[in-house]
Amino acid sequence: MSGTTMRAVVLRGWDDLAVEEVPRPEPGPGEVLLRVGACGICGTDLKMVSGGFEKRGWPPSLPFVMGHEWAGEVVELGPGLEGIDLAPGDRVAAENHAGCGVCPNCKAGRYNLCYQAGQPGHRLYGHTAQGALAEYAVRPARLLYRLPPEVSDEAGALVNQGALTVHAVRRTGLDPGSTVAVFGPGLLGLMTAQVARASGASRVIVVGRGVRLELARELGAETVDYEQGDPVEAIRELTGGRGVDRVYECAGSPEVVVQAIGATRRGGRVALLGLSGGKTVALSPDALTIDEIDLMGIRSSPNAYPAMIALIASGAVRTEPLLTHVYPLEQIGEAFGAFARREAIRPILKP
Ligand SMILES: [Zn+2]
Ligand SMILES: [Zn+2]
Repeated sequence: MSGTTMRAVVLRGWDDLAVEEVPRPEPGPGEVLLRVGACGICGTDLKMVSGGFEKRGWPPSLPFVMGHEWAGEVVELGPGLEGIDLAPGDRVAAENHAGCGVCPNCKAGRYNLCYQAGQPGHRLYGHTAQGALAEYAVRPARLLYRLPPEVSDEAGALVNQGALTVHAVRRTGLDPGSTVAVFGPGLLGLMTAQVARASGASRVIVVGRGVRLELARELGAETVDYEQGDPVEAIRELTGGRGVDRVYECAGSPEVVVQAIGATRRGGRVALLGLSGGKTVALSPDALTIDEIDLMGIRSSPNAYPAMIALIASGAVRTEPLLTHVYPLEQIGEAFGAFARREAIRPILKP
């Protein structure tokens, strides 16, 4: 297959995206060539396009092919994969964190925190290595998870963000019967609300505004509109003054972190899933110490893809209300526009 090309969305310079013919990647040892079925774009992509992560080395150089939330079909197995449980035609979702496999964190299964990040041997596909906004992509076989027929390619493109919320729910040790608040009803928040419910939360309260908050209500959550008053007070009122057991910050806003802590009961836990782009906020350590509140960061989705795929396949997590904007690859500009204007929860490109 050498010498063949494919169409890809290429970031040529800051705020300069174009669909171009580029060389089709070839699978090396342990790698798989995949046909991309559906690929979403997220807030990180939006910031990457305008150079917001240049200092982090995302992307490491230009031109670059982004795209890290996707699903596709196996086309060809590279050398060394004879006999593995994957074959051409299998549909899969692809994880984007490939840890070095050697450092203590990788060995402990925490490959999202690989010590080799930024070094050769560690790859973050779509950020430091070529992404999937293209007709084809190559990935190590160990990053692939088979999709059952109940999970479409479009739904498969939501597994990346969904798996992050599985990791958050696990890390916060959500007990059956717990009360939960979710700040920010974007894809992350709407997935968190559903995964928390599926994991045994008795009440899920979503804080936000507008049509996204409406969507949270349609998906079964109680809602608090922060434009109608102080959301912390509203949550305390809804919980008899106590606050909730677990809070998930999915807005990526430093001010919301303060609210999230304020909405947590004594002895509760707060998980931060959103990135705030380097912004800071003043926190009172006493607010954590006196009430023994655990504040934890959540990064990526180690070992969480199979659980998320099962939750979607079973119907415990619904994806069809979130898949409102689907485009051919050529309409990448329209897709980014619909996301930037907050019209689409998750624009999906189909190469
Ligand atoms: Zn993303
Ligand atoms: Zn590592």
